[in-house]
Amino acid sequence: MVPGELFVLSAPSGAGKTTLIQAMMEGPLRECTDLLFSVSHTTRPPRRGERDGVDYHFVSQQAFQEMIATDAFLEWAEVYNNLYGTSWEEVVPRLERGLDVILDIDVKGAEVVLQRYPEATGVFVMPPSYAALEERLRGRRLDDEQAVSRRLAISLWEIRRYHQYHYVIINDDARRAADALAAIIFARRHRARRMRERAEAVVRDFQAALHHEPSEITGS
Ligand code: ADP
Ligand code: 5GP
Repeated sequence: MVPGELFVLSAPSGAGKTTLIQAMMEGPLRECTDLLFSVSHTTRPPRRGERDGVDYHFVSQQAFQEMIATDAFLEWAEVYNNLYGTSWEEVVPRLERGLDVILDIDVKGAEVVLQRYPEATGVFVMPPSYAALEERLRGRRLDDEQAVSRRLAISLWEIRRYHQYHYVIINDDARRAADALAAIIFARRHRARRMRERAEAVVRDFQAALHHEPSEITGS
């Protein structure tokens, strides 16, 4: 079994990662059942409408610390005073089953994953401008003024790290950006190495139908 692809999507908070993943899953990738979103663990309290086990696994500080102590995380980081982590369980068994997995994690966590998993694909999402990021953070009305300021304050440090990723998407138009993300995923999936099993099955089908190749091609 060829292992699945690991995609690491990162951006300053509010740049539009959640929006792009959702638009892609409902648009170009809507028929795909073999791309799974990794649900992170966090000590952050749920926001209105967020569901445990779907948006995040919401856990206590103590439960999170126990997971760190038992090496349950592929990566974890403190982000805006809360702990967030990707468990091995969300990633490895799925990759081993040939499924693709996408992580939506912060820049520090992404660096750890890209080091530990050199074959992972890093995608950095940039807001088109500082003003757009500020407007999006305020517009979604999920964070208080202090939290918005904290997110904006760290955004320059984050966007400067775009070159550590394999791909960069500037999220000006959400549809175009979601299409670009889908294109990156499709391109990775269609590499010859990844396609080998299916391509070899086609070759075998041709071999069975033709028995031998004409000598003017093979030279024999
Ligand atoms: P993230 O997951 O990166 O924190 P979100 O996906 O929650 O960001 O997006 C933050 C806000 O910006 C949301 O209100 C979303 O609707 C809006 N948004 C996302 N992409 C765009 C875009 N291309 N143009 C305008 N608004 C956008
Ligand atoms: P939010 O609280 O807005 O959902 O997420 C805040 C930030 O934490 C976002 O940048 C998001 O990508 C990041 N994040 C979510 N899950 C994880 C995770 O498992 N690990 C790391 N390192 N960051 C995460």
